[in-house]
Amino acid sequence: MKQDIAFLQRKASITSSGAILLGSHFVCDGFDWDREVAIVTHIHADHITHFERCLGVYDFIFCSPETKELLITLKGNWLRLRRNLIVLPYKKPYTFKDERITLYPAKHILGSSQVLVEDRDGIRIAYTGDFNLPSTKPISTDILVLDATFGDPAQIARCSRDDIIDRLICLVKKELDTSSVCILAHRGKLQEVMGILSEMGISVPFLCAPDIYKVSMVYQNYGTNVGNVLSLEDNAAQEIIQKGERHIIFHLFGRRLQLLPKEIHYTKIRISRWGTKEPYYTIADDYYIVALSDHADFNGTLEYVRECKPKLVITDNYRAGSADSLATEIRNQLHVEAKPMP
Ligand SMILES: [Zn+2]
Repeated sequence: MKQDIAFLQRKASITSSGAILLGSHFVCDGFDWDREVAIVTHIHADHITHFERCLGVYDFIFCSPETKELLITLKGNWLRLRRNLIVLPYKKPYTFKDERITLYPAKHILGSSQVLVEDRDGIRIAYTGDFNLPSTKPISTDILVLDATFGDPAQIARCSRDDIIDRLICLVKKELDTSSVCILAHRGKLQEVMGILSEMGISVPFLCAPDIYKVSMVYQNYGTNVGNVLSLEDNAAQEIIQKGERHIIFHLFGRRLQLLPKEIHYTKIRISRWGTKEPYYTIADDYYIVALSDHADFNGTLEYVRECKPKLVITDNYRAGSADSLATEIRNQLHVEAKPMP
């Protein structure tokens, strides 16, 4: 058994710069000189840090069709001309030399992929990327490289996603009676909330900065109903602000609040991820936190491992999370060999 694990350990790793190495040829969400093919699992910043470097070096950079559109939206139209940025649809294997790669969908943000490499020894090597459960289908595998965002046993969702969505909708409706509302969240999450609110019949205009608007249009083109969205560059949006008409503005979390239209008072609702606090709380009269995660919690992460039945798990210790405790819990609770990397 020990010999088996040593054999498997040579087939996957995470480098000190966060590159996920699978098999002999592939690198996910990072850069490595010894690799020939790159994969971008999704467009969150901690997964595309070395994207430009990959573009300059590799002949093949694979991603889902949605991720390619989002990359073009973020980086610019020049990217359309790059022949080495290649769409690989889900579940369509591609053989490179003696190994085969396949992308599978992950529930996270639009276009998110899991990656499976099958090597010449018949070993299956999978990388989850970021994912939520239960909506992500685990890949049965021998080696699993696992996102560890909520790898601490204390990080357990205290109420269901449906409950949190209900409370979010109630809160937005109540606040709209007296004030315009500002939703603060990361890329992707903003568009998800647009979809949730418009599906629930909230019909006030949605306003946002031009870059957020462009990302929203990609979501719309791929089937999300993002509602009545207007770019702040649009005259109609400026008119709504000047007349003081009720609206919801969608603002990137981390971007300065001073960039919001100065003449409007907004009730702020920050969409955060699960943490140790309550799923729903207020930090000021007009500032609320709602914890709507796009990552599996600790139990969901463990459930993923249980279902894919790996012989070896590598927990991602480069990106934010709890890779050490997750590896310990996998060893103790599931009796599967697990270690954090790097
Ligand atoms: Zn992510």
